[in-house]
Amino acid sequence: MPLVNSKELFEKAYKEGYAIGAFNCNNMEIVQAITEAAKECNSPVILQVSAGARKYAKPVYLKKMVEAAVEDTGLPIVLHLDHGADFEICKDCIDGGFTSVMIDCSSKPFEENIAITKKVVEYAHAHKPYVTVEAELGTLAGIEDDVKVEHGAESYTNPDQVEEFVKRTGVDSLAIAIGTSHGAYKFRPEQCTRDPKTGVLLPPPLRFDILEEVSKRLPGFPIVLHGSSSVNQEYVKIINEHGGALKDAVGVPEDQLRQAARMAVCKINIDSDLRLAMTAGIREHFEAHPDHFDPRQYIGDGRAYVKQLVKHKITDVLGSNDKI
Ligand SMILES: [Zn+2]
Repeated sequence: MPLVNSKELFEKAYKEGYAIGAFNCNNMEIVQAITEAAKECNSPVILQVSAGARKYAKPVYLKKMVEAAVEDTGLPIVLHLDHGADFEICKDCIDGGFTSVMIDCSSKPFEENIAITKKVVEYAHAHKPYVTVEAELGTLAGIEDDVKVEHGAESYTNPDQVEEFVKRTGVDSLAIAIGTSHGAYKFRPEQCTRDPKTGVLLPPPLRFDILEEVSKRLPGFPIVLHGSSSVNQEYVKIINEHGGALKDAVGVPEDQLRQAARMAVCKINIDSDLRLAMTAGIREHFEAHPDHFDPRQYIGDGRAYVKQLVKHKITDVLGSNDKI
């Protein structure tokens, strides 16, 4: 099976009340961990590439690695551009064989966001085969590669704008801001309450009222959540117990993501959680084996942790297991 776009995957996900994981990748071990986990769970999967990943690994390497994963697993896999900043980068990816792109003009004025998104959609939909396009309304706080929004400067999606935006752009899916955030430090401690027993921060709940209102205005239309790592504390603990220093790293609770996946959310983006799992595996390895210097040994442990994490996400959070 060749790479696929996200259209049919989202239709089925919407109908059956689950979401597809969109995992960021930038090296071979991460691609393998994600796709081997998806294979074992019999789940479709989206591999997404940010501008930072393109800079780090070069687009041609990423594309060939993802193609290798398709060949190796036989899974329906979407190769998606995460946070395309302008028309040119989207065009470049479409021409280079990506099956889905995101154009992110969410920081621009509404009319400008519409104009650029529409241009990308026209180009992507004219492509053979059809390339799906995701856009964004509202802005998330936090840092993701080149995308940086200060806490306090984020804004929730305004449901009054979504119908007009989707109608005028022809976009295939829409990322909305309902309180998720990029990075491993999603919320400032003063936004959270602290669990008196564990000392772990509990973040403010997602704005499900906005999600509900948006899905009422756009029946059957796939919604996307960015910044949806949960910063699983088991990995933070391993990192901190093996020489790391991640203080007050906090994410979106998994039960809230599960709830969103049952609603109109068809794609959930997960990046920081993979980084944390990889780092936990490597740190643990180095402390246990200070004499090791073969990268296959420690990166292999990191890969095993990422794979275990992705299986957990697919089965317990996204609900996309056994959906092929
Ligand atoms: Zn994002």
